[in-house]
Amino acid sequence: MSTPIIAHAGKGDNPGRSDGGGAMPVVIAVPREMAPGEQRVATVPEVVQKLTKAGYDVRIEHDAGMSAYYPDDLYVAAGAKIASSRTGLLDGARIVLRVQPPTVAEVDQLAEGTIVIGFMNAANNLEAVTRMRDRKVTAFALELVPRITRAQSMDALSSQATAAGYTAAILGADNCPKFLPMLTTAAGTIRPATVLILGAGVAGLMAIATARRLGAIVEAYDVRRAAGEQVRSLGAKFLELEINAEGQGGYARELMPEEKAKEQQMVSAAVARADIVITTAAIPGRRAPRLITKETVATMRPGAVIVDLAAESGGNCELTQSGKTVHEHGVTIIGPQNLPARVPFHSSQMYAKNLQSFLVLLVDKDGALVKGFTDEILAASLLVHAGEVRHGPTRDLLGGKL
Ligand code: NAD
Repeated sequence: MSTPIIAHAGKGDNPGRSDGGGAMPVVIAVPREMAPGEQRVATVPEVVQKLTKAGYDVRIEHDAGMSAYYPDDLYVAAGAKIASSRTGLLDGARIVLRVQPPTVAEVDQLAEGTIVIGFMNAANNLEAVTRMRDRKVTAFALELVPRITRAQSMDALSSQATAAGYTAAILGADNCPKFLPMLTTAAGTIRPATVLILGAGVAGLMAIATARRLGAIVEAYDVRRAAGEQVRSLGAKFLELEINAEGQGGYARELMPEEKAKEQQMVSAAVARADIVITTAAIPGRRAPRLITKETVATMRPGAVIVDLAAESGGNCELTQSGKTVHEHGVTIIGPQNLPARVPFHSSQMYAKNLQSFLVLLVDKDGALVKGFTDEILAASLLVHAGEVRHGPTRDLLGGKL
């Protein structure tokens, strides 16, 4: 990946990035994530090294990377300073890099004009959004980065969905009472397990690739017909339905009632013959589509496993409980939350690189922070700025309530 930040740093007369003409380098602060179960960290030593070379002052909160297995001393070796308190971390910080959205209390610690970058999940964090607005904090939401070619290196939704898809396949295998590969042994021949993936987006494709590597027979289904080619290229069978529900921007549209009935029939038959079902179906801004009814679960083989990646947005299976594993009709139904946090080393590494690419957009060719956020990617991901909520749908949700 080419990094314009490093190219800027190469300028001998501009060794330190400054905040628009001042002599002081821009301070980037990385807090320890406080959300329960969050193991990731927003930057890693490898990226810190590039940022410090580019002239940023990087501060890491003590033990911020501990849960992702990046100890403080590696950050120090990469050129960062360790802050022992949150106050020390944020004092004079211009940019704050996060994984999870800040809480209201965390927003209260930020000075006016601070730029916060991370997942913002605005619809579920309206109070923090209004507090950022009122404190004139600037917030960029990485989930709003448009999925255009130029933004691929900043696509944190994709990098984290890759981690989720991989982990889902491993979780499925771990909970399955069968081997996944075919085995020919002196004690007999073992037939390979069948894994069904519902929703072949970024996470689904990674789950397919992982299940294939484990030796399973893999079938997959998606309402977008374009997914068929990608599924087949990974050595899996694509279940065809006479529906093409490709909507705007490459995402799926919601199905018509008669389309839903056809889908239900085909999906139910495939679910009944699977040993592991991994569901990833999602429609942006909507509740997750219900693909597996409780009646279908009752037709599954004893010992079968469902890993429902849509658990946090309502579940693709009727019996899923978010954050829990339940057993119904001999079937294990797992409703995991925050799967990328289960591979925190690599999901943090990928996320940190996404942020590194995003930061390039925030500086001009002289290395100063840009004044306006006119770049298409910045404009689309700008959630709050200068006392205003800039993201239309979030503004509509607030609708004068707060
Ligand atoms: P997502 O998480 O929104 O949804 C996951 C999958 O569920 C999608 O493939 C969707 O089609 C599928 N789905 C929705 N309803 C379904 C149903 N009823 N039955 C079965 N499947 C259903 O999607 P995503 O993983 O974020 O990716 C969505 C699209 O965006 C894909 O086409 C992907 O290739 C594309 N994408 C493009 C870029 C880029 O160009 N930079 C980056 C990432 C993803």
